[in-house]
Amino acid sequence: MVNQLSKLPGVGAKTAQRLAYHIISLPEEQVRELAVAIFNGKKQTKFCSVCGNYSTDDVCAMCRDDDRKNGQLCVVKDPRDVAAMERMREFEGQYHVLHGVISPMQGIGPDAIRIPELMRRLGSENINEVILATNPDVEGEATAAYIARLIKPMGIKVTRIAHGIPVGGDLEYTDEVTLSRAFSGRSEL
Ligand code: ZN
Repeated sequence: MVNQLSKLPGVGAKTAQRLAYHIISLPEEQVRELAVAIFNGKKQTKFCSVCGNYSTDDVCAMCRDDDRKNGQLCVVKDPRDVAAMERMREFEGQYHVLHGVISPMQGIGPDAIRIPELMRRLGSENINEVILATNPDVEGEATAAYIARLIKPMGIKVTRIAHGIPVGGDLEYTDEVTLSRAFSGRSEL
């Protein structure tokens, strides 16, 4: 048990041991509930066919929510970034999850991430602003620049989150205040 738990992100050997002791001390029924929740969580989660975020349905709750169809589409690298943006409680539009960034070094081209899906959405949905919220690192910037070049001829406003997030930083680990400032200070590309 300790060996398996210590493989989880952010869990060192010491924490793994503490968790294992805790689990052993629980009533058997509670341990079963925990194990079933982990297993079902994994089994029932798939990707939303529209935005690419995690979902238990074909189309996620956010994509089904008409109140969120305000013309703004926020593009992020992975589902964890959607969670980070949602913690900020400022953005009320829709998301598009790329599932990666363009990385020539690793042989990841534009078609290997969900850029074609993004372009299809822009052609069929009523979007008037695309907010590029990829990480401010080399690959995130290159991906944002690439997408901006594709979208601009379509006459859709393209903005990029900028201020506050340190270069080389990661959206997921950015506090809400910093992320909020970066978001409201986005600039047009
Ligand atoms: Zn969705």
